[in-house]
Amino acid sequence: MLSLPSVLTPLAPARSFRVGVAPLLARVWSERDALQSRLRALAKAGPALDLRLARVLLYLQGQDLAPLGYPGWLAFTREHVDWGEAWIRSVLRLVRSGLREVLRAVCAGRIPLTVAVTAPGTCHPAAQEAWVAAAVAGELPARVRRPSGVGATIEPGEADILAIWHARERVRLLEGLPLADREADERMLGWWRADRAEQVVATALAAAPRPSMASSDTEWGFADPADSLVGPWRSPSSLTDAMGLLSTIQAARRIRVVELGQIYERVVRERLHRGWGFRDVASFCQTVLGCTVRSLQRHQRLARALRRLPELGAAARAGMSLARVEAVARVATDDDVVRWITVAERTPAVELDRASRQVEAGADPDVLLDAYEAVMGTATGTVALGSTQTPVPPRLTDRVHPDLPQAARWLLAVELPPQRGFGRVKERDRFICANPECRRRALRNHAHHVRFRQHGGADTLDNGLCVCTSCHLRLIHAGHVQVEKVGAAVVWSFPGRVATVVDGPEM
Ligand SMILES: [Zn+2]
Repeated sequence: MLSLPSVLTPLAPARSFRVGVAPLLARVWSERDALQSRLRALAKAGPALDLRLARVLLYLQGQDLAPLGYPGWLAFTREHVDWGEAWIRSVLRLVRSGLREVLRAVCAGRIPLTVAVTAPGTCHPAAQEAWVAAAVAGELPARVRRPSGVGATIEPGEADILAIWHARERVRLLEGLPLADREADERMLGWWRADRAEQVVATALAAAPRPSMASSDTEWGFADPADSLVGPWRSPSSLTDAMGLLSTIQAARRIRVVELGQIYERVVRERLHRGWGFRDVASFCQTVLGCTVRSLQRHQRLARALRRLPELGAAARAGMSLARVEAVARVATDDDVVRWITVAERTPAVELDRASRQVEAGADPDVLLDAYEAVMGTATGTVALGSTQTPVPPRLTDRVHPDLPQAARWLLAVELPPQRGFGRVKERDRFICANPECRRRALRNHAHHVRFRQHGGADTLDNGLCVCTSCHLRLIHAGHVQVEKVGAAVVWSFPGRVATVVDGPEM
């Protein structure tokens, strides 16, 4: 269990004193100084704690996660890690690089992690030292955003917007990946230029590449500030051990993030940075805390939401993951926050994210909450609603590459192979994996017999579910996960947990 080290003990709330003006001022200033050293301590512990988390993740990435019931790395991290996929990739690249001098500089708080992840992948120790020195002095060349091909862009018209949106969805289906718009556009343009429709479809249907098992040499041989928070580093001895370390480190991070946000909010509100000799908050954050205003603003938004919705604050303190807390904060009001918290506690992370996006796109929250409450009332374990809802409507505001409308129409004209017989299960399910913890959408997904064929299961649509290749082969047919129909519900039995899926309301 996590014991709260001194640096993470919350500050005593400010009290008011009936005393003279001078002592009062002195007290105010000493309290503000205490606030600043507290901020420094919290900020200093951050990067080392983050690297500690990354080292555990590196170990986990090298393990087979199927015995835990996860089809792959993405599904696992969404459920268990407070970081987004892109950031995990960046940090793991850094930790795997073995740039010891860069890592040491991060642990010592000399450079922020956001800068360290931009370090060149391989370089000898002297060059690393020079790179760190340049980073400390702010002399690194500014990072240039990768240009999207040409300088010119256009503002698409109404009809183009719809075509581009459908074409992006099709790129994601063909690639089987939740690509960002920008990445989807680049692939679409590349395919259109090559003009090889059959090849695009053939690649989409080919077997997915096996995930690479990373090696994990995570012994660095130097102490870091995280030692005082979560103990000295040791390589996990097993999957179970790694999961324990993961939850200890993340609990320490959550407490830290929420408190940082609270103090930062006070700094901004009372303009405390001025009293400390800084003209703006940005330079205070950069100089004293070594972190960006953006990350602090994110913590601040969270702190604000937790103040507005105290029940959510209590859930966060009780250990709800930050991803879930943030999803609830985006959609909940005073009136329905308790209902949303209950849903958040009983849904896979990807399901909660989907529900909150639907509400943001205009779905009626009461209809959704009613549907979740109905199934929670009859099932144990986690719950999910079937993916019958149509996707979020297009809200394209960005300018795009001038060729994109033409590339989009080309891609939409590419004929996908028709689904015959039992394969029509996939079309019915819109090619979305039925595993409520996965939901991967890919053309190469499989049609699965809920009642196995060797047990007399028929080739009928109601005996079928669309599942991704990983869930099908590595989970279900490897015996780690069982799927069965119970009345109108589909029940997924994972190692140590159960999820019940029912059809969602028409939205
Ligand atoms: Zn899947």
